[in-house]
Amino acid sequence: MMPQEVKAIQLVWLSKTGLTNLNSGEGGSNLVDIKKFRYGGQEFPYVSGQAMRFYLKEAIRRHLQPEEACVPDEQGEACGRISECVLCDLFGFMWTERSEKRGEGRSHVRTSPVKVSPAVGLHPLEATMTIDFLTRRPRGTTIEAGQEEEARSIVNVELATNIYLAGTCIDVARIGREEELVELRGAEQARRKFPIRGVQLKDYVQSNTERIRRIRLLLDAIQDFSDYSKQARLLTDFTPDFLLTAIQSNYSHRLQKAIQLQDSEETRINVERLRQIIREVRQDLWSADNQPALWAGMIDGVIDNAAEVKQVLEAEGVSVLTPREAINAVKTVLENAGKTS
Ligand SMILES: [Zn+2]
Repeated sequence: MMPQEVKAIQLVWLSKTGLTNLNSGEGGSNLVDIKKFRYGGQEFPYVSGQAMRFYLKEAIRRHLQPEEACVPDEQGEACGRISECVLCDLFGFMWTERSEKRGEGRSHVRTSPVKVSPAVGLHPLEATMTIDFLTRRPRGTTIEAGQEEEARSIVNVELATNIYLAGTCIDVARIGREEELVELRGAEQARRKFPIRGVQLKDYVQSNTERIRRIRLLLDAIQDFSDYSKQARLLTDFTPDFLLTAIQSNYSHRLQKAIQLQDSEETRINVERLRQIIREVRQDLWSADNQPALWAGMIDGVIDNAAEVKQVLEAEGVSVLTPREAINAVKTVLENAGKTS
């Protein structure tokens, strides 16, 4: 059985992704929707949470038999069978019963136990355009006194790709389960018009092995974001380059705030913020082999102050692995927990 204490699995990550790729979507598809938002007078790109959920769902579908995952119908309604359909279980649904009379069909709604944030670009769009212009300058251009600052940006040609911040949180208790109303006291007994009701979770998936398998499928999908995009030619690589992931005994989204950049030009992580959030989250962490269930994953060449970040993480007792290893650590702990309890 899944240990009762596991309430949430969180992942928050940075992904270095080419803007050019992002804009070369399938013609006419509204799923590749590179949206822009303004903050502090500058424009930043983002990919909607809905689109991110779509990519995850499609990545999961590839590992499922047709009968394990429905396709939304012409009205965009999913099947709503939590026990049979992995996607309806993980991502929720809404469908309305057909009825003879208009407006009498009952609606069935499941809130997604998997929360997915939009992927937000952390470097301003404008910066990429400026740099594009600068790189077109002919070779051998001499830098005038006072122009050094401008010339320095040439080094940042890489800004044509952006760093995206994305995150997911899994409400573990609701995987394979759904809330149902229970009558606490009858209307008659309570001398009221209506009974007094509460809610409780009902199991739709009896086997915990199956519940853990569904969580694993989602974790695999995050590891394989890029794999999917190559096949569907939809989007570029959203796999984590720098990642924090935790198993929590308390449901909270706090870890999502751990990653913040110090300035908009370089990819320097605010280490003070990182340290503060890790300390705050520590109380919510589940422990695996007497170690707090929090891991970091990092690949080289994405974070400008990587050495400093690593130092802070290690000082806080967080193992620094690669992103794939960090996600694997979560899977291993889940599976062992599933076996022992
Ligand atoms: Zn379904």
